[in-house]
Amino acid sequence: MNNYLNSEQWFEVVNYKEYLYVIRERLDEIDPRFYTTYTNLYLVMGSHSALLIDTGCGLFPLKPIIDDLLSERELLVINTHSHFDHIGGNNEFNKIFIHSKEVKYVSEPFDITFLQNSPKEIVKRYQSKNYTLRPAKNIQAIKDEEIIDLGDISIEVIHTPGHSPGCISLLTNKSELFTGDTAHYGMMYLTKKTFPIILSSISKLIDLYKKSENIELYPSHEQFAVGKELLVDLSEGIKNIDNIWDTKIRDDFLEAWIIEDEIFKYAIF
Ligand SMILES: [Zn+2]
Repeated sequence: MNNYLNSEQWFEVVNYKEYLYVIRERLDEIDPRFYTTYTNLYLVMGSHSALLIDTGCGLFPLKPIIDDLLSERELLVINTHSHFDHIGGNNEFNKIFIHSKEVKYVSEPFDITFLQNSPKEIVKRYQSKNYTLRPAKNIQAIKDEEIIDLGDISIEVIHTPGHSPGCISLLTNKSELFTGDTAHYGMMYLTKKTFPIILSSISKLIDLYKKSENIELYPSHEQFAVGKELLVDLSEGIKNIDNIWDTKIRDDFLEAWIIEDEIFKYAIF
């Protein structure tokens, strides 16, 4: 039995490295129909500032959890992209950075009535918000190659469209690569007509290994601290989808085709 009563019980906080927290929430506890177990948020702690990567589903307040970890640092908040499971807590923070192509989606209330008939009771917590996520108060557009300075840690923005037009990945000068929803294990959400776009984004990420073989991947869903093989296998997997297209199954909730290989699941729109 899972009885989540407050933020402390809901969010799992892992102090994975001295300067890196992984803050996880269970997407399957909100709605298992997304075939996704975990959403991962990350907090990178520089000497003068910290960067929060994504704000989760907005089911429980996130800011108190983050404030407890900051100790005097200034907080910056960025969204890897504008889907509901990454922007839910945006309204709790003063300012949100997001790629210019998705500014409009976080500027207005976000309708999540599609969660209303989730089999999980906990979604009733959204009733008080009328199944709407409140927008960010203040939004600042970012673009490819911009550098975010946290003091001793700097982070480069890498535009990796495909899952959505303004998806970004983030590379620290200590070789952590946050891949957002561009690459993760589990269920990948893709649009057939954007296969070439996501494939070129994935190869852009693989190319980063030419500069540093030590890069470690921190995706926004499922396992974190994984290796280059995620990118290589995913790229091969997407290229192979046409060959296994006959095995697809219709999913009426997602309104997508579900297809599976040995490593990944795909929801194809
Ligand atoms: Zn996601």
